[in-house]
Amino acid sequence: MTGDITVISGPTAVGKGTVVSALRRRCPELWVSVSATTRAPRPNERHGRDYLFVSDAEFDDLIARDGLLEWAVVHGKHRYGTPRRPVEEAVAAGRRVILEIDLQGARQVRSKLPGVRSIFLQPPSWEVLVERLVGRGTESDEGRARRLATARVELAAASEFDHIVVNEDLEQTVEELVGLLGLASTSSEGSS
Ligand code: 5GP
Repeated sequence: MTGDITVISGPTAVGKGTVVSALRRRCPELWVSVSATTRAPRPNERHGRDYLFVSDAEFDDLIARDGLLEWAVVHGKHRYGTPRRPVEEAVAAGRRVILEIDLQGARQVRSKLPGVRSIFLQPPSWEVLVERLVGRGTESDEGRARRLATARVELAAASEFDHIVVNEDLEQTVEELVGLLGLASTSSEGSS
């Protein structure tokens, strides 16, 4: 499969979800993959929009049918994976594809599809990352500790990516991504 595919990765609570939503609003031509996961939905999350929330057995079945482009156990607990077929269809339709996945997934996609563009979102500092994670209030103490342990490993791998973007200010981050992806700006002031 060759197409315009961009992997966006980065540690927990760096703001990947917010950044990707803002990028999508700014550039509606982007197609953003919806991952499958065995984790339970958070209160504001919807099946089919945020994730495909599946059981362990359903995830096993996706793997057995070679239905995932990549998958990984994230934060040592739940499985997350990119459904293959929708990505293939989006690429075939000429869409520009965004995969928001973890480091392990990014590595798999890069080795399977050497032409992908990879971007690492970095927090301004370790302290800001911890603050954002605590402020989000979605994790237990144990969950937070696990996510911070993964974050240390992920931050150490930033240089593997084609580009590193520091997510300090949302608008500026989106601006940088628009530039890196070579997207036309649709905002009134910034159009070129
Ligand atoms: P969360 O549980 O906070 O929604 O996501 C946890 C982590 O899983 C994030 O780092 C996110 O990038 C990663 N993730 C989400 N979807 C996928 C996927 O399809 N594949 C992989 N490998 N990681 C994913």
